[in-house]
Amino acid sequence: MTPWRFAAPPHPWVHPVPAFSDNYLWLLQSPEARRAAIVDPGDAAPVLQALAARGLELICILLTHHHADHAGGVAELTARTGARVIGPRSEKIPGVTEPVGDGDHVDPGLGGPVGRVVAVPGHTLDHIAYLFPSLGADPRPLLFCGDTLFAAGCGRVFEGTPGQMLASLDSLASLAPGTLVYCAHEYTLSNLRFAAAADPDTAEVANRLAEADAMRAAGIATVPTTIGIEQATNPFLRVDQASIVQQAAGRLGHTPSGRVETFAAIRQWKNEFR
Ligand code: ZN
Ligand code: FE
Repeated sequence: MTPWRFAAPPHPWVHPVPAFSDNYLWLLQSPEARRAAIVDPGDAAPVLQALAARGLELICILLTHHHADHAGGVAELTARTGARVIGPRSEKIPGVTEPVGDGDHVDPGLGGPVGRVVAVPGHTLDHIAYLFPSLGADPRPLLFCGDTLFAAGCGRVFEGTPGQMLASLDSLASLAPGTLVYCAHEYTLSNLRFAAAADPDTAEVANRLAEADAMRAAGIATVPTTIGIEQATNPFLRVDQASIVQQAAGRLGHTPSGRVETFAAIRQWKNEFR
């Protein structure tokens, strides 16, 4: 039995490559353990190190959006490995060799089933996520969602509208509850501190906060999470909950006109929350 209730047992073929202060670059390994793909390589050096340590050849790069902490390592990695680069149709990302959009199929060449692109505008307008039915013998679906859905949180709304971001989160929330969620940052603890304020009546949030606190103190990554865990504890997926509507009303000074206003109010609150 796993000691952690709110973090999924890690996938045997997906490895976190920590970068900068809190990014995870996700290394996907083929089950026969020679080829690899990397999601959102903001920095090349830690990726090259991880490839060498595991004896892997990089054949594919997958990008979720144009921010430098996600795409900054592409030029050096492609120069050194010749890897294909799958990414959003966006003039803001140089080096994409296979531009993709919503509903497109994606095959990183690791021998698993093809994945699907889900457009998730909001954090940026070009933001996409990748959903794979499984990888290797592990039957769990995998979602790589960059800076859209975080463990117990969501990305800042930089380029899109709150309505766009909420629709993107809704589409991810509708995936199978067992889907592994690989987000791009270790923000879980600060997200859960906010979640405990925004959703004070939900005991699962407080329990998850205590668990994440212990995991971080032990140096354990809190990612991956699952869609089911997020449905139960992520305030940005729970904007229809009476307790969260009530907190939003307290911030706004009036009852929110609907779920987009609730979402916008708690997203704004999170921006200011310390
Ligand atoms: Zn970003
Ligand atoms: Fe980021």
